[in-house]
Amino acid sequence: MAVIGQALPNRGPISLSWDAALVHSRDPGAGRNVVIHEFAHKIDMMDGYSDGIPPLRGAQLTRWTRTLDGEFAQGGSDPSDEVLSPYAWTNTSEFFAVATEAFFCSPHRLGEAKPDLYAALAGWYLQDPAGT
Ligand SMILES: [Zn+2]
Repeated sequence: MAVIGQALPNRGPISLSWDAALVHSRDPGAGRNVVIHEFAHKIDMMDGYSDGIPPLRGAQLTRWTRTLDGEFAQGGSDPSDEVLSPYAWTNTSEFFAVATEAFFCSPHRLGEAKPDLYAALAGWYLQDPAGT
């Protein structure tokens, strides 16, 4: 598999394929965006761990871990999982990055297929790109 992006931990850089960034930016409705994906990894790593859990606290942390556990446990077997790239099921870190891509690039599809995941991401990012 070709590597089109990489986010290194701590103060490490983000590396991006410019070609992939251009292709993804020209077709945002396709639900893929390497720039958003790699920055989601950096956000995930803000607490020192690349585990798919951004630095949340209290009720937001409980909500996110419950949502992540529920969604990830399905392992891509539920038909509603088709809104996410199969790469999401690699591990929880990739799930967060791929779900973030879907949240910003295809918010209506994500919100309809996975309303709990959409709501958890909206709570984290304090945005509602689907305008629900
Ligand atoms: Zn990734």
